[in-house]
Amino acid sequence: MIRVEHLNKTFRQPDGSLLTVLHDVNCEIHKGEVISIIGPSGSGKSTFLHTLNMLEPPTSGKVYVNGEDITAPDYPLAKLRHKMGMVFQNFNLFDHMTVLENITFAPVKLLHLSQTRAEQEAMELLKRVGMVHKADVYPATLSGGQKQRVAIARALAMHPDVMLLDEPTSSLDPTMVGEVLAVMRGLAQDGMTMLLVTHQLRFARDVSSRIIFMKDGGIYEDGTPEQIFEFPIHSATKAFVNRIKKLLFEIDSDDFDFYEIHTDITRFCIKYNIQAKAEHAFTLIKEVLFLHTRHIRPITVRLTHTEMTGVTALDFMVENLNETPLTDADRVKIRPQVNDIIEERTTRGFRVKLLI
Ligand code: ADP
Ligand code: MG
Repeated sequence: MIRVEHLNKTFRQPDGSLLTVLHDVNCEIHKGEVISIIGPSGSGKSTFLHTLNMLEPPTSGKVYVNGEDITAPDYPLAKLRHKMGMVFQNFNLFDHMTVLENITFAPVKLLHLSQTRAEQEAMELLKRVGMVHKADVYPATLSGGQKQRVAIARALAMHPDVMLLDEPTSSLDPTMVGEVLAVMRGLAQDGMTMLLVTHQLRFARDVSSRIIFMKDGGIYEDGTPEQIFEFPIHSATKAFVNRIKKLLFEIDSDDFDFYEIHTDITRFCIKYNIQAKAEHAFTLIKEVLFLHTRHIRPITVRLTHTEMTGVTALDFMVENLNETPLTDADRVKIRPQVNDIIEERTTRGFRVKLLI
């Protein structure tokens, strides 16, 4: 469906210097594939999506869509944009139009559907994204997750051959990520060809038929989810997919804001899909700080989660301490609440790690 050959993109920076963002990208995208593009920030993922529908014309190289060279100077871009539904991070809905009008506007204007027909189709799409009840409201009254679901329906209304989604959940409040992921999961199951830039690695592994790992403006590794997540060839891929999410608290006295810690932990756990661990982590932190390490300050508390292995840990770190702060009695109290207790010296002090 899409073939990319020797694609390069160079930007001129404000100071006049040139920045090459895409280096010789080659790939083929077939009908029905669900491809997640992952990679560090700044690696060229967005630019790659933008060059595919010529929002950013490539500096050199070719993009063929269904055999047609869309980089040719005389190629009608309007036609191309119908074929590719684009969903961005920031919704881009028209604020002065209702939800229904947002969806019917382009099909009436560009596909010349009758108003009635466009509205019928729009209502079907709204049903698909769970937003029928909001057809007549204005976007300002919607939550971020609802706006993004409308944005997806609006893109689908143009009957695209392929959907390009650029981090559609990354500007959402964590509580709303799930509803948008569910809609995308539905699209993938319905056989929609999709190219999705995402930071949600677990989701990418679950829904994709293929993963592209981008690094430094190139496709660094390209394979099935199993290859990329379980058996990556390159060490950089391995490091990226096994990355650890962290939340840190420095506790230097007893008058810190416990409510704030509670809120931060809750948000962190929702974001990484470990809601069930939030209260447990919070209770353990309180217990360790006030019962077992009451006299030890400052102490750094760290909550970590490795998305791919699902391992969550609570670390309590103390600098310039040579031995464990825990007594046998402490251990007896903690043990039944955790999967493991690891007590170890570090280069700077001592760490008690609770696996939860
Ligand atoms: P990603 O989506 O992987 O985070 P981007 O494609 O947004 O990466 O950006 C890749 C690089 O290109 C970044 O260094 C960014 O600053 C630069 N870049 C992106 N768009 C432009 C632009 N319009 N002008 C200049 N530099 C840009
Ligand atoms: Mg981006």
